[in-house]
Amino acid sequence: MLWAVIVNLALTGAQIAGGLVAVSTALIADGVHNLSDAMALVLAFGARRLARRPATSDFSYGWGRAETLAAFVNFLALIVVSLWLAIEAFGRLTDPPPVAGGLVMGLAAFALLVDLATAALVYRSARESVNIRAAFLHNLADAAASLAVIVGGALIWAFGWYLADPVLTLLISAVIIWHVLGEIGPVLRSLMLGAPPGIAADQVLAALRKLPGVADAHHLHLRQIDETRNAASVHLVTETADFSGLVRDAKVMLRETFAIQHSTIEIELPGGHCADEIGEDEPDGHHHHDDHDNARDDHAP
Ligand SMILES: [Zn+2]
Ligand SMILES: [Zn+2]
Repeated sequence: MLWAVIVNLALTGAQIAGGLVAVSTALIADGVHNLSDAMALVLAFGARRLARRPATSDFSYGWGRAETLAAFVNFLALIVVSLWLAIEAFGRLTDPPPVAGGLVMGLAAFALLVDLATAALVYRSARESVNIRAAFLHNLADAAASLAVIVGGALIWAFGWYLADPVLTLLISAVIIWHVLGEIGPVLRSLMLGAPPGIAADQVLAALRKLPGVADAHHLHLRQIDETRNAASVHLVTETADFSGLVRDAKVMLRETFAIQHSTIEIELPGGHCADEIGEDEPDGHHHHDDHDNARDDHAP
């Protein structure tokens, strides 16, 4: 896999340098996209190595979120560069400068070969995981972009149709931004401390309320620690005296039913006051007034 990164980085350098020499923003756009793909691999490898380090007292959740952060930085860079190239290409639409079509064709053909080789490499393991299948589709889209640049280079080379270059640049920028918008959602969700995808807060509360001895469950927080670990905190109101047994049952249920490996559970007695409401006036009994609780039906019967 390392040599794939090296070949991709070399290709990228050649494309961007060639794009500058040939005055072709389309070639630069294709090169930038390949650069970001190679950077994504490098960042993923680096972040994965970092993620294996043991947790410390300062970083008690470990280093798994480095992957999320790396993905976010890569997406941001892609958006900025794509917008910059699109603006540059837009300015060239009215008066497209001469572009060295032959050089563009040659470098794009080289890029197409590398894209197809990478796609073939990925395809062998494509059926194993959703992530790899997504990577394979991404590689195919990259190959299509390189193919488009070859066609553009041919149009310029054969007919002197310089407008092809900025038009292609706009197309490639649009495809890149479309890619990013399709993939950035889960990353933003994790960074915003959103609930793990596929775990519904109301279902977690309902399952907790069904546990023997639980009278009510409220003040639920759900979040992702990293790609593979989920965390929850919740208050349980109970009539039972066996607090530790109840907490154990709840943790086992959360782990086995909802894949929440890290849960923090507070116990409250029926009729007692919720510790998180101290200092708030309670006009109608046990009710939370936090904004996040108002958004959910935490106190449903
Ligand atoms: Zn790509
Ligand atoms: Zn409470």
